[in-house]
Amino acid sequence: MKKLDTCPVCQSENILVTMDVKDYFLSQEHFSIWKCQDCDLLFTNPRPENEYLAKYYDSPDYLSHDTKDNGAIGKLYFFLREINIKRKYKIISALHDTGKILDIGCGTGELLNYFQNRKWECFGIEPNASARNFAKSHYQLRVEEEQNLQNLPVASFDIISMWHVLEHVPDVNERMQVAKRILHDNGYFIIALPNPISPDAMHYQEYWAGLDVPRHLSHFSPKAFKKLAKLHGLQIINILPLKMDAYYVSLLSERYKKTSLPLMRAFLSGYRSNRSASKSGNYSSLIYVLKKM
Ligand SMILES: [Zn+2]
Repeated sequence: MKKLDTCPVCQSENILVTMDVKDYFLSQEHFSIWKCQDCDLLFTNPRPENEYLAKYYDSPDYLSHDTKDNGAIGKLYFFLREINIKRKYKIISALHDTGKILDIGCGTGELLNYFQNRKWECFGIEPNASARNFAKSHYQLRVEEEQNLQNLPVASFDIISMWHVLEHVPDVNERMQVAKRILHDNGYFIIALPNPISPDAMHYQEYWAGLDVPRHLSHFSPKAFKKLAKLHGLQIINILPLKMDAYYVSLLSERYKKTSLPLMRAFLSGYRSNRSASKSGNYSSLIYVLKKM
């Protein structure tokens, strides 16, 4: 384990421990979440050393890397994934009719395949070898390992997307710099993140599945993400919700809490979260659309 004495984004020493959270998904180990008093970032601390992070993804249930259907949660996941793919395409095609897209953390490649079928030039980065190979063999996509990200040509992509990826990345600042360098000057950088101050996060507290320790190393409130974007000379031009995530994350959280009637409770929690967020903007998951300043 690696213990951080300063904030991993702004390097402030003004950090405090806020919460103890269990890894319900896999290891059942406990991790602490710390808060930076200066930039509002929440971060998992101590965190596994980079070379040991992979073992926390080593589960047949790790859905984003899995294409099998397993039970109610699996079925719901695939249903929501279809809705999400269409929504993501709609958001991106409103920014650019067509062009060159890079999806970092593309998993098994379903989103890129949707774009490929609509004449976009598609590239993916995926650290998980089996997901990467699936994307290449099933969809004939060009998908490379994470370490090749920095070798991609400068200012070349019209769209760079990271859907629920940045929270997993050990060096957030380095990733933001690399993405900015390979983004076209008129391109858009799209980052979707769980929102740790959403109503469902507040409701479930340490059971909130959006914390997903230790796979999630950073937990960005909208305030923390705005500071990060500014630090890297990026401007947020739009913030959009992923409303379905409130239901999915609530269902996982109910499972972690081992409540009775989890489906009904999750539906209510998701509905309440979205209703409250329709006024505050604090949806369970937020999509930030960025441009170079
Ligand atoms: Zn900070």
